[in-house]
Amino acid sequence: RSALDDLKNAIRTIPDYPAPGIQFRDITTLLGDARAFRRAVDELVQPFAGLKIAKIAGIEARGFILGGAVAHQLSAGFVPVRKKGKLPHETVGMPYSLEYGDDEIEVHRDAVSRGERVLLVDDLVATGGTAEAAVKLLSSLGAEVVAACFIIDLPDLGGADRVRRLGVPVRTLVSFA
Ligand code: 5GP
Repeated sequence: RSALDDLKNAIRTIPDYPAPGIQFRDITTLLGDARAFRRAVDELVQPFAGLKIAKIAGIEARGFILGGAVAHQLSAGFVPVRKKGKLPHETVGMPYSLEYGDDEIEVHRDAVSRGERVLLVDDLVATGGTAEAAVKLLSSLGAEVVAACFIIDLPDLGGADRVRRLGVPVRTLVSFA
């Protein structure tokens, strides 16, 4: 579909960033393009209008930019999912493993309530480790994670399927194989 081709073309690829051999998919070019940014947000929310989403959970940092726009569009609240140590009130955390070592994400304990319908948003799903940790964290607080959406899928890394195996439907707009 050509609208999605336009989105894909608005994403810049940086070779060997942040490490040799890695092709970094840079969405700042998409964000800076008014038409592409609007289109990306419209496409992300499209299946979720009318599904009574109460909160958008956006993953630091690019998930904040997209998640804020998605929240506005769906008239939902916004919940930041942050790296450990950044949130000021009482938090709950979920550790996850990276290629080298471990990390932990956190949310405020009172950010979601039991049974609340939450949509998870980030720019890109790679291995799915970050999104999996976010799903588990939000679920541990009793939220119902209705779906997860991302602009970019890296299908060779299997992250979207990893999130689907948690029982969470996944929407992605463009993929780089
Ligand atoms: P995962 O946990 O799925 O392996 O990695 C996904 C997380 O890393 C997301 O929060 C995403 O923003 C970030 N990430 C990993 N690789 C890239 C990339 O090539 N481009 C961008 N924009 N983000 C990336």
